[in-house]
Amino acid sequence: MAEEAGSKAGCHVDLTGQTALVTGASRGIGRAIAVKLAACGARVVGVARSLEALEGTLEAIRAAGGEAEGYAADVSSAEDVKRVVDDVEAKYQKIHVLVNNAGVTKDGLMLRMEDDAWDDVMNINLKGTFLFCRAVGAVMMRGRYGRIINISSVSGIRGNPGQANYSASKAGVIGLSQTIARELASRGITVNVVAPGFITTDMTDVLPDKIKAEVKERIPLKRLGAPEDIAEMVAFFSGPASSYVTGQVVAVDGGMTV
Ligand code: NAP
Repeated sequence: MAEEAGSKAGCHVDLTGQTALVTGASRGIGRAIAVKLAACGARVVGVARSLEALEGTLEAIRAAGGEAEGYAADVSSAEDVKRVVDDVEAKYQKIHVLVNNAGVTKDGLMLRMEDDAWDDVMNINLKGTFLFCRAVGAVMMRGRYGRIINISSVSGIRGNPGQANYSASKAGVIGLSQTIARELASRGITVNVVAPGFITTDMTDVLPDKIKAEVKERIPLKRLGAPEDIAEMVAFFSGPASSYVTGQVVAVDGGMTV
């Protein structure tokens, strides 16, 4: 019991006894989300392309007294997604929370963008989100309950030069989410979108310091975001307090899109 109490420390959302599946849980925002949901009491199923990459996340959760396991899968592969979801359903019967967080960028100006850069980003960011929503949505329908949280981006709300593929995929995530929010609502399933602004992770570390400084200047709250800022909003949408909210898009961006 002491362990259970420890695992919920620092969380105002009670997910005790629930199973939460988080894609892209190996690093950055996905790791922070996985750690947060575990701290709220959920059993976390983390997905990334390799088990080795997930080890750090799983260890952090277990060290805090939480429960976690990992699956190696490519979110853009229908076979991989089916294998993971079938296995998790067979083990735990229900999946209460799904967070579609896995994502990539392959930036470049539209006129010079290669087909592969378009296809890869659309397949991972948008098709991957669809595949997990479809597979887990069926499990949630059977359970008459669910919380789906899809990670978009401020680039999907406003567009961003150099990110035609990424912005299109993230705008697609919003359209997909609004549609399935309506399709799944009658079964007690909510679907919401969190759109991060500029968050300090591997994805943004590659940008030159000059660009980071310029971005920071444009953010009303005058700081870059941390993965934990996103995890807090995801925890809210995962829990009971958000039960009357569905189909919404919340930018967690320090005011960037105001
Ligand atoms: P990150 O540090 O680059 O991590 C990306 C995660 O996605 C990793 O866990 C990676 O796992 C996983 N992933 C990538 N391709 C995958 C695939 N085909 N199958 C399974 N997993 C895959 O990125 P991040 O900054 O944390 O971003 C997380 C999400 O937030 C993304 O959807 C991103 O678009 C969005 N976002 C980020 C920012 C930001 O400023 N950082 C802003 C707006 C939106 P492995 O590589 O270990 O397999």
